[in-house]
Amino acid sequence: MAHPTCSSQLTSLSDRNAVFVRHAPSRSSNRLNAFPTQRQRQRLHSQLLRASAILTKEEPSIASTSGSGDSSNGAMPADINWDELGFGIDHMAPYMYRATYHPGSGWEGGLEPYGPLQLDPSAQVLNYGQSVFEGMKAQRSAKGNIVVFRPDENAARMMAGAERLSMPPPPPELFLEAVLSTCRANAHYIPPQGKGSLYMRPLLLGTGSILGLGPAPSYSFVVYAAAVGAYFKTGQLTPIDLIVEERFHRAAPGGMGGTKAAGNYSPVLVVQLAAKQSGYADVVYLDAKTDTYLEEVSSCNIFVVKGNTIKTPPLAGTILPGVTRKSVIQLARQLGYEVQETNVAVTEAMEADEIFTTGTAVVVSAVGSLTHRGVRKQFGEAGQPTRTALRLYEALTALQQEKADDPFGWIVPVA
Ligand SMILES: *Cc1c(COP(=O)(O)O)cnc(C)c1O
Repeated sequence: MAHPTCSSQLTSLSDRNAVFVRHAPSRSSNRLNAFPTQRQRQRLHSQLLRASAILTKEEPSIASTSGSGDSSNGAMPADINWDELGFGIDHMAPYMYRATYHPGSGWEGGLEPYGPLQLDPSAQVLNYGQSVFEGMKAQRSAKGNIVVFRPDENAARMMAGAERLSMPPPPPELFLEAVLSTCRANAHYIPPQGKGSLYMRPLLLGTGSILGLGPAPSYSFVVYAAAVGAYFKTGQLTPIDLIVEERFHRAAPGGMGGTKAAGNYSPVLVVQLAAKQSGYADVVYLDAKTDTYLEEVSSCNIFVVKGNTIKTPPLAGTILPGVTRKSVIQLARQLGYEVQETNVAVTEAMEADEIFTTGTAVVVSAVGSLTHRGVRKQFGEAGQPTRTALRLYEALTALQQEKADDPFGWIVPVA
């Protein structure tokens, strides 16, 4: 698909509007494991909530300086047809957050107009690929708030990925500040309630120059954003057809499948494009060791339902620890399902009542059929979402849009 080029629409942001912050190098960063412990995560979560409260009180709204008068909503851009929003770069938000890291001075950064990064050809990321990303979204809720879903989880995941690729992790306070100030500055790019979201893309890149193989001498942390439409336009889940991939693997034990490293994504394209040509939405990968168990889809986690039991592959380093995956596990348990994080053989999946996938963009997506070695298994009625997938999709989107209570404390208001 051709992407229209995106010219930066705003050049009027003056220097005085930039909010600069400094974060000293974190001494604790080297101690983080690839998967933070429950206690580390809890500490992170409370840190983030405190940071959120402080930022909400003290930080001036960039959007309000544009003269629109309404600081939280700003003037909605006239050129966006909110009913026809797709998932792409057509409506890039005008502000991005950029911080740079130098040893000694630590992180320094602030908001600036969306625009190109200047890199030397010898930048580490262009040669050796030090790069991890995140995907998250801000939405207008039914209560009229702008809300972000579990940003502490994305912060923790980026820290773990940074560790795996020998990069200095942005501290969680910096991560949250960057995400929240990007939201605020671009509030006028957050679609009306129910029409979509502001998709946010945090990036951590080894932007410093190096010739021999080694970590970059300096780093950039960037958060940019784009207005995107609701994934399922009708509000109704459209089931997808998947095929089990038999030639390629996505990740291997001991590799980096568990990180959102940029390098994990281009290798799936050749597989995904071939599947699309054959009429499938995407593929399901099997484990590299035995070719027996389900791993995940190119950018979504997978769940298999039989009766009241829901199974999903365990986090053993080869699959991505999705925030939606984790949330669906908690939510399904609360709704009375038995949820097991356990190996799921492809033969078991072919006998299941239902299969669904999860990810930030789709939330929950029902699988209409799974094809394995030429055998096609249909789930539910053609074109109709299956029961459990629909139930979890509705429960989670209701919670995310503040149409239902949030007993978990997952929703962070941007204010
Ligand atoms: C991002 C991603 C997911 C979904 O993660 P969420 O945090 O739920 O968006 C699943 N699998 C892969 C490979 C991913 O990159």
